Formats: sequence, structure tokens, C-alpha cells
Amino acid sequence: MMVKTSLHIHTFEDKVEGYMIKYNIYDLIDWAGQLGFKVLGLTCHKKFIYQDDYAVYAAKKGILLLFGIELQMKKRAKRNDLIILNINPKDAAAVEKINSFEKLAEFREEHQEIFVLAPHPLAARLFSMGKKKLIRNMHLFDGVEHCWCYSRRFLNFNKKTKKITEKFNKPFMATSDAHFLRYFNTDYILVESDKLEPASIFAAIKQGAFTNVTRPKKIHQIFWCLANLQLKKYIFFIFKFKQVIRHKRG
Ligand SMILES: [Zn+2]
Repeated sequence: MMVKTSLHIHTFEDKVEGYMIKYNIYDLIDWAGQLGFKVLGLTCHKKFIYQDDYAVYAAKKGILLLFGIELQMKKRAKRNDLIILNINPKDAAAVEKINSFEKLAEFREEHQEIFVLAPHPLAARLFSMGKKKLIRNMHLFDGVEHCWCYSRRFLNFNKKTKKITEKFNKPFMATSDAHFLRYFNTDYILVESDKLEPASIFAAIKQGAFTNVTRPKKIHQIFWCLANLQLKKYIFFIFKFKQVIRHKRG
């Protein structure tokens, strides 16, 4: 069967960017269920977000909910985002401590069940790992992300990423990196899997038994997203910064 799968999702529960997300995990599951999604990957920033109830609620709608995290392999100001999926809740503390590719390699050795995804590797260098780190650490990645944020002519990091990924024979997979639901249903994968189980889904992806569903965005759509995401972030940052200064002075 073809399993509609979305593996990079943020929700209101996200401790880093949740403040600008308008839907919570239950809203997301409801919406995904209506759209026919069968596998979802919750990948909140830095903090592992998990509750039994989330998985139970999803299962009631016929959805397999995978718990993951979007980590930062931080080097100075650069975030070097990295996604780990299918984390056992008992490993949450250990996973949250991974902040280098060396530590990732160690964790991977002992946790064959996880799936490591390199998100938007060639997008803005402030939060993405860039070409060098992508190539150098390719052996640690089970898949490389086809970023939702691209246009046909003016802005397309995916072309270069695809070339590199194909050279290493790794899956190049579409996600929506959802922070709003506008493109949740335009960028995802259809996985050929008989079972709705993590191992079966990941095995199929690794074998290339999946199809990317994606479409380029119009320039004004990209600007809308940037305004909604990055601009909000900066405004929030300035606001917080002012509060800290005021607090210090007071
Ligand atoms: Zn993300």
C-alpha cells in the first residue's frame, strides 16, 4: 500500500518555535487524518516532546505517530539543524544532549531503530549544515530532506542537494517542515509499505520505495512564509531582549 507520510513537523508544543504556531498536536492529527496521512513525524526543536496520549489519539485515526526531535549541532552562531526520528522516550535525555556529529555517531551505533534526516542542508547557513558537513557526515544520515521552500526559477537549493544526495545513493525525501499548515499537504512522501510500523516504513524509504509529492512555490508564497516565520522570530527576539534589558536595569 501507499502510505502518505510527513516526517518533519512542528506544533504549538514546540519549546523553541511553538509560540508562533497556531495548531497543537491534536489539531494536526485531526487535519492529517482528513487528508489521508498515515505516518507523521513530530520533530520539535531541541526538546523531545512526547505523551502516550498523542500516539493513542493518532492511532484512533489510523495514524502512526513517530516521535522525533530537531537538534542543533551548534558551532558558534550556526545551528546546523539535524533530525532524529523514532526515538524511544526513555532515550529522551540522551538524545537532547547530542550536539555534535561525533555524539550522533555514538548514539547511532547503539540505536539501530532511529532514522536520521539531514533537514534543508543547503538552505540558509544560519540554521542549515551546509555542503561540507552534509558530505562529510553523509554516512550518518538515512535520508536527506527535499526542502518545501523553493521556487521554480529564483530560489532552489534542492537541485544542488539532489545531485549530492544521489551521488551518495541516499533517499532524497520531501517534507513540509510544518510551522503552518498551508503547505502541509503539498510536500510529503508516499511510501510503499505493507505495514504501518516504523521499521517497515524506514526500510522502504532506505530502499527508495517512495515517491516525493511536492510543487514549487510562487515567490510571493515564499515571502509570505518568511514574513510569518523569520520576521515573527526577530520581532519576538527584540521584544524579549528589551525585556531582559529592562529587567537588568530594574
Ligand atoms: Zn524543522
